[in-house]
Amino acid sequence: RERQMKRAMHGGRLLVLTGPAGVGKGTVENALRKKHPEVWVSVSATTRDPRPGEIDGINYWFMSEDEFIAKEAAGEFLETAVVHGMAHYGTPLKPVEEHLAAGTPTILEIDLQGARRVKETAKDLGLEVLSVFIAPPSFDELVRRLVGRGTETEAQRKRRLETAKVELAAESEFDVTIVNDNVDKAAEELWALIAKEYGISER
Ligand code: 5GP
Repeated sequence: RERQMKRAMHGGRLLVLTGPAGVGKGTVENALRKKHPEVWVSVSATTRDPRPGEIDGINYWFMSEDEFIAKEAAGEFLETAVVHGMAHYGTPLKPVEEHLAAGTPTILEIDLQGARRVKETAKDLGLEVLSVFIAPPSFDELVRRLVGRGTETEAQRKRRLETAKVELAAESEFDVTIVNDNVDKAAEELWALIAKEYGISER
């Protein structure tokens, strides 16, 4: 009860958007932002080099490894990961806290492993999380979205199928499922969830 009251005064829980690789989380998120620019989506920090066209503070916060490691040691990230054994990635904690405190719908789009870590860390930090699993319409459709242009080997294909199976099985770990059979429909369902969570009434 008291928690609900607090939430009503201060906004909603941190929305963690996750799902299997290839399900189209990013596409759903972009559709949501286009229609509802009032949502704020976390910008990750990374130590990899910017690709052509990428802008600091928009696509990522680009930084040196020294800077990243110093911030990590100072507890400035909600979660971090090393991807491909090379670059560091992390979710800066302070902007998440600030947007939540301001009552702004606050979204973190992250893979399954990251979502699990966020759920754990959030608990320790006293942050409340609403986790959303973006699901494909079916296993076959997920595999279809994942499959390359016939350039992969049989072993690679098998591994993909196995990963897809394992990742789909993670659904039950998260609070809500949204099926991405149509991007705009999925984005609208996500918005309805956000509006309810943050007490935003539709005009
Ligand atoms: P890219 O370098 O291609 O932009 O991203 C590489 C990978 O890093 C992607 O799988 C992406 O999901 C992951 N990634 C990006 N930002 C973060 C983050 O803040 N935390 C974690 N755990 N992974 C991230």
